[in-house]
Amino acid sequence: MRATVMYGAGDVRVDTVPDARIVEPTDALVTVTRACICGSDLWPYNKMAPTGVGNRMGHEFIGRVEAVGADVRTVKRGDLVVAPFAWSDGTCEFCRQGLQTSCLHGGWWGGTELDGGQGEAVRIPQADGTLVVLPVAADHALMPSLLTLSDVMGTGHHAALAARVRPGAIAAVVGDGAVGLCGVIAARRLGAERIILLGRHADRIALAKDFGATDVVEARGEEAVERVRELTGGLGAHAVLECVGLETAMATAIAIARPGGAVGRVGVPQDATIPNARPSFYRNVTIGGGPAPVRAYIEELLPDVLEGRIQPGRVFDRVTDLDGVPAGYRAMNEREAIKVMITF
Ligand SMILES: [Zn+2]
Repeated sequence: MRATVMYGAGDVRVDTVPDARIVEPTDALVTVTRACICGSDLWPYNKMAPTGVGNRMGHEFIGRVEAVGADVRTVKRGDLVVAPFAWSDGTCEFCRQGLQTSCLHGGWWGGTELDGGQGEAVRIPQADGTLVVLPVAADHALMPSLLTLSDVMGTGHHAALAARVRPGAIAAVVGDGAVGLCGVIAARRLGAERIILLGRHADRIALAKDFGATDVVEARGEEAVERVRELTGGLGAHAVLECVGLETAMATAIAIARPGGAVGRVGVPQDATIPNARPSFYRNVTIGGGPAPVRAYIEELLPDVLEGRIQPGRVFDRVTDLDGVPAGYRAMNEREAIKVMITF
């Protein structure tokens, strides 16, 4: 079969790889119908040291179940399924409390051991705990929005929950990538009265306003902090969603949180330390977040997608086939595309 492999920074190829197959009785075999490129795929795209082996890529996908192992009970051949960006057993201590990204028997797609979503087929470990059956056909018009349930919409929702967005709150979203934009949707969905987006790309700002952003701050650093203070009567935001992962973004997120407020961070941290320790301490700012347990959120968000209340699929502004994936990485890296969807 063919799949996306990253061999080093800037070196993404579509290669022939061993066919995905069932190994354990708890596995399923899924042929991918839709996948996408993630902003987090751009970190290795810019930094990865060259390797001869290469890493299989992709952690967001929808597909059709082709076969299941003897112990699989909840999905069957022919089902259309969405996969969260981490796989999990659904039964351990952490899965039962809804934190599937800490599953004791789970893990992450791709790398050197497992298939990735940016390929023709994927072996799904712990299929019962991992996959969610979608009640629609594979060519349904809502497919882009359903695909966001594998990561960015659930991750935006996680940021909003970690930032403690409540009805009437002033929320601020740091970052205008696909996750930040989904964070705007999530903040509005949870009742935020005002949503301040910190971003500087015209196309993304326009989409954020459609999604519910009430104010936009295009400045960065100290100037951005000042602008948010002005917009909030000098107090800062109740709930800050940090959707980038860079130290500068985290510093801004903490600086714009009001006393007693919270920062929910979902951008993968690119630095070893959290900045602004003293201001966050003296203002009693809670800092939370981490890899979103999107498996827990799929069931909660699915009705809103199916009934059209939220349209996170609008973050996809480019579509490609598998052969176009390397160009898709380039386009996202150069900010020519917000998020690239792959059709098979
Ligand atoms: Zn588990």
